[in-house]
Amino acid sequence: MPKGAEFIIRSLENAGFEAYIVGGCVRDGILGRDPEDWDITTIAKPDEIKRIFSHTVDTGIEHGTVTVLVPPEEVERGIRSFEVTTYRIDGEYTDHRHPNAVSFTGSLEEDLARRDFTINAMAYHMERGIIDPFHGQEDLEKKIVRAVGKAKDRFAEDALRMMRGIRFSAQLDFSLDEEAYLGIESLKESLENVSKERIAVELWKLLASAHPDKVEMFFSTGLAPYITEDFPKIQESGIPKLLPFAPVEKIVRFGLFLRNVPDLARKILRDLKLDRESIEGGSHFAALFSEEEVESPYALRKRIARYGLKMVRDFYEMRLALLHQDEAELYSPLESDLLESKRRTGEIITTKKQAESIVKERLLWITKVESEKNCVSLSELMLSGKDLISLGVSPGKRMGEILQLAFDRVLQEPKENEKEKLISYLQESGLLDS
Ligand code: ATP
Ligand code: MG
Repeated sequence: MPKGAEFIIRSLENAGFEAYIVGGCVRDGILGRDPEDWDITTIAKPDEIKRIFSHTVDTGIEHGTVTVLVPPEEVERGIRSFEVTTYRIDGEYTDHRHPNAVSFTGSLEEDLARRDFTINAMAYHMERGIIDPFHGQEDLEKKIVRAVGKAKDRFAEDALRMMRGIRFSAQLDFSLDEEAYLGIESLKESLENVSKERIAVELWKLLASAHPDKVEMFFSTGLAPYITEDFPKIQESGIPKLLPFAPVEKIVRFGLFLRNVPDLARKILRDLKLDRESIEGGSHFAALFSEEEVESPYALRKRIARYGLKMVRDFYEMRLALLHQDEAELYSPLESDLLESKRRTGEIITTKKQAESIVKERLLWITKVESEKNCVSLSELMLSGKDLISLGVSPGKRMGEILQLAFDRVLQEPKENEKEKLISYLQESGLLDS
């Protein structure tokens, strides 16, 4: 427990209010994982919490949550902020997502009972130890994600819990309890009541986890069409086996996940209401996989012009890293073909070496583009629209075509990126009057 958590619990208890750390941080603490955030649960009401601490933020005061910032001397490992929530019972749920009202309770056990899964329904106190009325520790040992109470009832209250359950099983490499699995199968449609933003957060946490292959459960339970309408097509086209080996970056993992549905990638990411960068980047990265291998530095520069330097480098670096994974299928059609033909004859090792030398050569080409500052975007071209205007070309479609030709010239011959040279080139090609 970080110092700050103990400080908060002691301060609350000195004022006469019972308090514990609770939820995910207790689960992760037992598992020896680094918690994402630290939550404290207490019998104190929000106004009482605010009276005890000098620095607080009203995060969700209507649900009893106050963020407490501990003084600098209590900060350990950089952990300064804690969510402190009053013991609470959720009222009735009529929209499958939000309780109609919440009410405070004096009972820790009632607060634990409103939580989603047994492994998330434990509290811990430095002197009183672990409070675990729903046998979360047992499920941690058995590696099972099990709902607190009847899974179906709990999912009917809040449909997001179905996605959370699958996500936890991917993060922790646990299995989903059978009752929970069946609960999802029968209540899958109710995911329609959950906002796409929240769905996207859960999907991302799953794809970013150590076992993104568990995404398979979204398909087998039937949840997929309620994630986005085209989601089922991802499975029809095949879920890439490489996901667990890819760097944990949104663009990379979403792009890889969607590599077999490049034409749907943008729509799926847009339907998930992701940020613009993830939509553009993810769908571009997905498209990059269906491109043929580049066979010359010129072709590589063209590819960089289209996808951007960072993305192309990420792509090759990832391929290189993956070539070192024994079980990894290979990426590009070229590598897969090479590998397929050799797999039967047991020559995989030499094939991997060949693939590796191809990828390494491309990486050298990329380094050269960088070190020689080659022009790989129109904005780096030493000839502009303005220059063309002064040469008598009027703005319009033709000007665009001329600029593209000059750009392509420079992609072929990087040294030609000089205004005079480009003008003579265009004149010699008859595209500009001398
Ligand atoms: P993470 O690693 O994503 O932070 P977490 O288990 O800590 O996982 P949080 O969303 O931070 O999840 O929530 C903290 C705790 O609040 C959970 O452990 C759980 O006890 C409870 N909780 C969160 N969301 C729900 C929900 N939708 N239904 C019931 N209880 C929930
Ligand atoms: Mg948490």
